[in-house]
Amino acid sequence: MMNAAITICYLLAGIGFIVGLRMLGKTQSARKGNWVSALGMLAAVLGAFLAIVRDSGAEFSFGNVVWIVVGVVLGGVIGAVTARMVKMTAMPEMVALFNGFGGIASLLVAAATVVWLGGNAGGHFSAATLFLAMLIGGITFTGSLVAFGKLAEKLPSKPILYSGQNVVNALVMLLVVVAGVCYTIWPDQWWIFLVVSLISLYFGVAVVIPIGGADMPVVISLLNSYSGLAACAAGFAVNNTLLIITGGLVGASGIILTRIMCKAMNRSLANVLFSGFGSGSGGSGAAAAGGSQGTAKSMTPEDAYYILEAAQSVVIVPGYGMAVAQAQHAVRELAEQLEANGCEVKFAIHPVAGRMPGHMNVLLAEANVPYEQLVEMDDINPVMATMDVAIVLGANDVVNPAAREEESSPIYGMPVINVDEARTVFVLKRSMRSGFAGIENPLFFKDNTSMIFGDAKATIEAMVAEFKE
Ligand code: NDP
Repeated sequence: MMNAAITICYLLAGIGFIVGLRMLGKTQSARKGNWVSALGMLAAVLGAFLAIVRDSGAEFSFGNVVWIVVGVVLGGVIGAVTARMVKMTAMPEMVALFNGFGGIASLLVAAATVVWLGGNAGGHFSAATLFLAMLIGGITFTGSLVAFGKLAEKLPSKPILYSGQNVVNALVMLLVVVAGVCYTIWPDQWWIFLVVSLISLYFGVAVVIPIGGADMPVVISLLNSYSGLAACAAGFAVNNTLLIITGGLVGASGIILTRIMCKAMNRSLANVLFSGFGSGSGGSGAAAAGGSQGTAKSMTPEDAYYILEAAQSVVIVPGYGMAVAQAQHAVRELAEQLEANGCEVKFAIHPVAGRMPGHMNVLLAEANVPYEQLVEMDDINPVMATMDVAIVLGANDVVNPAAREEESSPIYGMPVINVDEARTVFVLKRSMRSGFAGIENPLFFKDNTSMIFGDAKATIEAMVAEFKE
């Protein structure tokens, strides 16, 4: 009876995760997908709880139940409160922390199992999986904390490099592999486990500090995949099928996303991990982009209105600044006004716009921008030259033509939205400051570009007001 109940809970959880993940792939079903996955997690927690009761047998004590309930309630409350309080712009930091907690959970499960087994990991297979859960979990934990620090600007977001860094990291990795083989052969040598768990914590920091700038999204996605792999290894170690399934799903989806993002930035994963963004021969920052490139023209929203009023086609390219300004509702209103005026409006979304995958899609969906108006970079670029106006709404790196034009630029080769090919470009931002990658943007100095300085929401609202008048 108990076994059947546990199997049903695990089955429901597995189905919930797979169906939920599938639903998360589309904006329209994403919210429900989140709920389906959360219910799957509830079934998983219930199943795990019943399994503990069953496995405790005669040793079952009420004290154990209290521990579990306290853990579930505390974790649930902290999760719910932080998810409600977090600002949309701080979402990537939160995801980085979640990945880190997933990693430390796997490390702790592995460590607790070794302690439980009295220092002898049991068979060779068990030793190998415990070692992997501990190693990947440790790297994920500290790596995610560093990524969190960089995103939250509590640590310098630029790559931290020193000479011979890759060699040192490669030697540490070699040491860890040798230790892993030794531990698998001699599972009773618990001290190897202890030493490598400390090395794994160091290694997480060592592999993430050389990465920075525009490469951070790839790292977050990769760490997400690692947290899944660590959970998968922990699942093998404690013989829990559901943990293996869940870890496998997270590991696989994380690595697929990582690949998509590398492709979007036209970089290989090895290049992201080992080259140090903006630190190559091209140098970094404005110097790499060729320094100051002349004078930028500026315009008021009122002047821009006359051009918008005459436009037949407008493409809006949102970026991180739209999230900061919370301009998504205002821009939906502007799009409605333009359409009422007989203009065709599109929203062009770059895969790494904002600070997390799908950031712009989420905000625009929240503002009820019709899904059909959203177009991907590969679809808008071929028709960009036919567009009357491109409105760059708080975006910067994702529309930087240096990626096409300046071989010395750190972002050279990264596909960008070619707004500079539109007849007229309006760039809405507060100043001439650079974006996340810290490099100058020659777009601002192009003949067909006008800067409209100010908070993106206020600027768009001023344009809407002109239309209404
Ligand atoms: P950027 O960070 O390049 O630029 C955003 C621009 O918005 C800034 O230049 C800023 O200029 C402007 N801005 C900020 N606040 C406001 C405001 N209130 N009103 C108007 N403008 C504002 O953003 P992009 O979206 O173009 O590019 C994303 C970058 O982030 C890429 O480099 C990407 O690699 C990286 N990244 C992406 C992640 C992802 O998963 N999508 C995750 C982590 C990093 P000013 O200060 O002058 O106003």
